[in-house]
Amino acid sequence: MIVRITSKFGAVDAVHKTPHTGVDIAITEGTTLRALGEGVVDRIYDGSANIGKGLSIKLDDGTQLIYGHMNEVKARIGEHVHAGEIIGLSGNTGNSTGPHLHLGMKATDGSWLDPTHLADKVANVNWINGPITQIWGLLREKVSEITIDGFTDYLADFIVAFPVIAVVSGGVYALVRILSKGGATWAAIGTMIYGLLIVK
Ligand SMILES: [Zn+2]
Repeated sequence: MIVRITSKFGAVDAVHKTPHTGVDIAITEGTTLRALGEGVVDRIYDGSANIGKGLSIKLDDGTQLIYGHMNEVKARIGEHVHAGEIIGLSGNTGNSTGPHLHLGMKATDGSWLDPTHLADKVANVNWINGPITQIWGLLREKVSEITIDGFTDYLADFIVAFPVIAVVSGGVYALVRILSKGGATWAAIGTMIYGLLIVK
């Protein structure tokens, strides 16, 4: 999975008192979002409710896809959209504690389905900007949650994780070195930074 899920389908936590009806995907604000299938825009959320700005696309099979917490919706009600078409920009509107997209999937009988398998296709992320978006998101998260206690915990985890990070970075270096000597150093540094950020 390229994107990072910050709240899973069905999760009950501090933010979701009742089981989460979709998945929350960490996406930096202003990222282009795409339609996940062919259908008709049957609802636009204007930003006044918890879901913030967003829309619902009724797919040809009757399933509805709901996008929430967007910054800008670039689709009109009744508009026919094709898979991959741009439908707006991700954001942090409504009842949201950080930049993310809420993606919901509703069956024709009104029950909620797990849309996790669609998460990677929703945003304009690929193998190049995907990791950059992730690192940026993690960096912002880390900076916002620094406390003395948190730092001590992080340090403890870091000591445990460091040998793994070092070995993986070394492996990446050796692998990329076959292709390019200069690239290998950057790849190893990148892997090292990424490893430091995902320690939790
Ligand atoms: Zn959500």
